[in-house]
Amino acid sequence: MDLLTTLVDKGLRRELPTRDEVLAVLATTDDELLDVVAAAGRVRRHWFGRRVKLNYLVNLKSGLCPEDCSYCSQRLGSEAGILKYSWLKPAEAAKAAGAGVAGGAKRVCLVASGRGPTDRDVERVAGTIAAIKEQNSGVEVCACLGLLSAGQAERLREAGADAYNHNLNTSESTYGDICTTHEYADRVETVRQAQGAGLSACSGLIAGMGESDGDLVDVVFGLRELDADSVPVNFLIPFEGTPLAKEWNLTPQRCLRILAMVRFVCPDVEVRLAGGREVHLRTMQPLALHLANSIFLGDYLTSEGQAGQADLEMIADAGFEVEGEGTTTLPAHRVDAAAASGGEGCGGGACGPCGEPAAEAAEVPEAAEVSGARTDLVAVRRRGAGTELPPNA
Ligand code: SF4
Repeated sequence: MDLLTTLVDKGLRRELPTRDEVLAVLATTDDELLDVVAAAGRVRRHWFGRRVKLNYLVNLKSGLCPEDCSYCSQRLGSEAGILKYSWLKPAEAAKAAGAGVAGGAKRVCLVASGRGPTDRDVERVAGTIAAIKEQNSGVEVCACLGLLSAGQAERLREAGADAYNHNLNTSESTYGDICTTHEYADRVETVRQAQGAGLSACSGLIAGMGESDGDLVDVVFGLRELDADSVPVNFLIPFEGTPLAKEWNLTPQRCLRILAMVRFVCPDVEVRLAGGREVHLRTMQPLALHLANSIFLGDYLTSEGQAGQADLEMIADAGFEVEGEGTTTLPAHRVDAAAASGGEGCGGGACGPCGEPAAEAAEVPEAAEVSGARTDLVAVRRRGAGTELPPNA
């Protein structure tokens, strides 16, 4: 049996592929790329049909973080010219969230910069969740507030949060290269706390930070072991003013191979195409819908995404459909397992302060030219939450 047949077979049975099998996916040639996408697409369609779940980010608190995650525009010492503001009021956050829901988003992702919330912050977020749910009764809410302390996950669940996001980002062995103020194990612990409180866990990665294929496989195997319901796949947005500003390592083909690898390792979970899709996949974005079953609508935390209307047109043109409110995202066996353990199994979470996408690509460089800063591809968000301008949704 050849490699792709084996991987499809395992994906349909939820069997973990071997490390060598998924490393081989990352090593395929451009001649083999469409076969890889078609194979992983079969697994995606088996578990999720042609549905695409839309998620909408609201940055509750932007910038001024004391942590030093090197990929992040909100980090300690960041010179990126991003919006900086403290907590949005519940009504402001609800207004921003409402725009996303009106645009078709099924989930709102409430994000705040910082190492982790105080108990007072958690109460603020509880008030925001109430305001959002009062205005949009069917919407799922995911919180992404950093490292959690004892009891905070339970309080968020009680306040109506459906999910919690905290990304692993990269492999345990390279985590110290991208951040020195907290550890990989801290992140794993927070995801486990969220799961323990009955929140649907969302945890993903960032590709393009100079990691090896082995690192990528390690972090994805780590996510499978954590059994997150949702796995956001971010492609690094190298923000000017951050240490990784010159890390332009990705091509559209590489991004597609990474997404296919994630689908083979995590076949029945929500694989979310997250930050960086516009910047790195560019005109190849529609092919990624054959691999991911979920995307963010509109803008990201601190950078601009493509117009929300363009997202909807892309989904329709590629032959997919936006997942409706009445449809359960995850396959029945995952929902049943979550219910048995006291959670909702609603399907996936959000964001995570991480890779950040950009605006329209004016000119696409050859892969060999991809070096140095690309201010033409990365645009700082200047509308929506924290501004007077209407959001992009
Ligand atoms: S990823 Fe989160 S914790 Fe790290 S610097 Fe950015 S906002 Fe702070």
